[in-house]
Amino acid sequence: MNLIVFTRHSKFKMSMFRQIRQISCWSCGKDIKTLVSNLFCSHCQVLQEPDKNSNYFKIMGVRETYDLDENELAKKYKDLQKYLHPDKFANKNKQELEVSEKYSSLVNEAYKTLLEPMARGIYMLRLRGKEISENTEVDQEFLIKIMEKNEEVENAETEAEIMELNEEIKNMIKTLQKQLSIAFFDGDLKKVMKLLSVMKYYTSIDNQIQSAIRNKGIIR
Ligand SMILES: [Zn+2]
Repeated sequence: MNLIVFTRHSKFKMSMFRQIRQISCWSCGKDIKTLVSNLFCSHCQVLQEPDKNSNYFKIMGVRETYDLDENELAKKYKDLQKYLHPDKFANKNKQELEVSEKYSSLVNEAYKTLLEPMARGIYMLRLRGKEISENTEVDQEFLIKIMEKNEEVENAETEAEIMELNEEIKNMIKTLQKQLSIAFFDGDLKKVMKLLSVMKYYTSIDNQIQSAIRNKGIIR
């Protein structure tokens, strides 16, 4: 490697190197330099095991940020499952079929986690070695507000009432998402924990509203 070029572009080069892992294929035993997004051995085309040192963002091939593009995530998910779906391996040997089952369920889990704003936040916090606990403090005033909102949802009867609450809570969650995105960007984990604790309450109200929408047979 040209050392001068390497030094000049070292930051870029290093980020490329990090993507490459030197592994041996479990099936043919040959060394393969595989890009993370490449799923198959370059020699025998057998599906490889998911990288143990990876995380959900890398598995899905999306940028590691709270503020992710949900459409891009959905597209990556579809692309990956096109290659990984166990049905595609029904005629292959048993071991490769098992790898595809393992990989495919990992991709399902990664997709579900990253798609959902609350789960995504908790996951990103965990990657940074932190958890939100039951006793992460939220103030009394906030809890009263949440209790009142819960009651409003329980008492909502007409479609208009339910849909108005739906919009209000959805907007609240969107605002929290924006704040979370900034807090993650700033590396302010205390703020992240506080915001996730608040989001937890709104997510539970949102679930309640979604089941009310289903129960009333409201078509959107
Ligand atoms: Zn191979």
